[in-house]
Amino acid sequence: GEDQRLQKIASAIRVIPNFPKPGIMFQDITTLLLDPTAFKDTIDLFVERYRSKDISVVAGIEARGFIFGPPIALAIGAKFVPMRKPNKLPGEVISEEYSLEYGTDKMEMHVGAVRAGERALIIDDLIATGGTLCAAIRLLERVGVEVVECACVIELPELKGRDRLGDRPLFVLVEG
Ligand code: AMP
Repeated sequence: GEDQRLQKIASAIRVIPNFPKPGIMFQDITTLLLDPTAFKDTIDLFVERYRSKDISVVAGIEARGFIFGPPIALAIGAKFVPMRKPNKLPGEVISEEYSLEYGTDKMEMHVGAVRAGERALIIDDLIATGGTLCAAIRLLERVGVEVVECACVIELPELKGRDRLGDRPLFVLVEG
C-alpha cells in the first residue's frame, strides 16, 4: 500500500550530519535514486496526485527539482520549465531575489516559457524555510500563472516553511 511505499522512500533517503556546515542535517536524495523501486514509487505518488489536475507546467527548481520534475511532467503531459540559478539561462529572463541565512540569492525563468492563465506545479526535493519555493511562486505569479500546488519529497516541519507559502497548498511525501 501507500504507507509501505512511503516508508521505503523515507528509509532510502540518507541523512548526513554537519553537511555542508556544522549543525545542518543534510537530507541526501542521491541514495533514493540508487533504489529504482523507491525512485519509481516517488514519481508514481506525484503522478497519481497530479495526473487529473489540468496542470500544463511543471516548474522544477535547480538542482534537485531537475531530477524529480521531468519524469512527472512527461507522465502527466505537461511541459517542464527550469527555475535556475542566475546567469545560466541564455534567453530573456525574469528574476526574483530571495534571502538565505547569509545574504541573498536569485532565481531566474525564461519569459517565454509560460503564458498567463497556465496552471503550474512547482517541484523541489525539500522545503526548509520555504524561501526558495516562495521565490518560484513569485516568478510564476508575476507572469499570470496559477500555482496549483508546491510538491517536495521531504519537509523539515520544524522550520515552518509551509507557513510562508500563504494559501498555495504544499504536498510532501516524508518528513525529515
Ligand atoms: P529553503 O529555501 O530554506 O526552504 O531551502 C530549500 C532548498 O535548500 C532546497 O532547494 C533544498 O534542496 C535545500 N536544502 C535546505 N535544507 C536542506 C537540508 N537539510 N538537506 C538537503 N537540502 C536542503
